[in-house]
Amino acid sequence: MTGIKTYYWTVDEDSPESYPQVEEASLWIKKNEVIAFPTETVYGLGGNALSDEAIEKIFKAKGRPSDNPLIVHIAKREQLQGVVSEIPENAEKLMAHFWPGPLTLVMPKGDVVSEKVTAGLQTVAVRMPDHPVALALLRYADLPVAAPSANLSGKPSPTAAKHVYEDLDGRIAGIVDGGPTGVGVESTVVDCTTDIVTILRPGGVTKEELEAVVGDVAIDPALLSSGQAPKSPGMKYTHYAPKAPLTLVSGSQEMLQKLVNDDRKLGKKVGVLTTEENKHAYDADIVIACGTRSDLSTVANRLYDVLRAFDYSHVDNIYSEVFPQEGVGAAVMNRLEKAAGGRTASE
Ligand code: AMP
Ligand code: MG
Repeated sequence: MTGIKTYYWTVDEDSPESYPQVEEASLWIKKNEVIAFPTETVYGLGGNALSDEAIEKIFKAKGRPSDNPLIVHIAKREQLQGVVSEIPENAEKLMAHFWPGPLTLVMPKGDVVSEKVTAGLQTVAVRMPDHPVALALLRYADLPVAAPSANLSGKPSPTAAKHVYEDLDGRIAGIVDGGPTGVGVESTVVDCTTDIVTILRPGGVTKEELEAVVGDVAIDPALLSSGQAPKSPGMKYTHYAPKAPLTLVSGSQEMLQKLVNDDRKLGKKVGVLTTEENKHAYDADIVIACGTRSDLSTVANRLYDVLRAFDYSHVDNIYSEVFPQEGVGAAVMNRLEKAAGGRTASE
């Protein structure tokens, strides 16, 4: 706690322009203070991307390592001027197709953006969010806004304003509450500086959707094997973690139940992360259904809220089912693997 007063504004996402609160929040951004706001993926913690002072405040409020660069958010294409030095052809196609939306493009950096935003890299990550409150805030601020997820570093990303409040009250100038977010996992980050577009972080836009627009798409090899340094610096950190250790179980329901039983014999309080289909198969202290397997976007949408719910119930250990790597399942599994920090069990 740094003891700053944190203002809290509630806004109806359907008519953000009619709320003076959004304009008020934008004035703080113009004054180089930092503000949390909803996007369609997760809540972001925004600050003026042109100001070293504002960017330092973001890193400090989150406790984020300074070598992990931030995504710059814009409301209109013209704001790319100076933010990037060049727009590669594939980036043009992807912007035309997916913006506004949950896709972040890495392009050569322009000279107006603070070096602190890019952690000294020669590239910059940019996205146009698809959320009326985010877009209204960006339009009023009339600045490119650097915004990582609005959680303390290492914790699950916030998908509701109350998650932001838990983590950052007293550390930031304000929170705009525009209701729960939709996608629930962060944007897909793609490198557009290479001939073939490369996925650096799986997210709301799937590989299949990208390939329909630009042909073959590569995946950063570091995402598939742990030996290499990832091109997206943030991917090397343990992330999204609930307080209790989480183990990913690729095996039968009986196997998962046995792990639970063994822990409970030792007096431990145990949680299980499953889906609507399987929730009755388990006997544990707390069993949480995270969406349904028949539609993995529901799992993405609920994931971070469920990880935080295990914190509220003070379990000692969490066991989670695994999900198919198809579509948004790739992003779900990537986040679960980070949350598990390498703890897995299989038959
Ligand atoms: P967050 O905003 O917390 O969801 O994280 C943003 C992600 O984008 C992190 O994984 C960063 O490492 C990544 N990122 C931001 N800028 C760049 C860049 N210029 N090159 C590669 N990855 C980046
Ligand atoms: Mg984050």
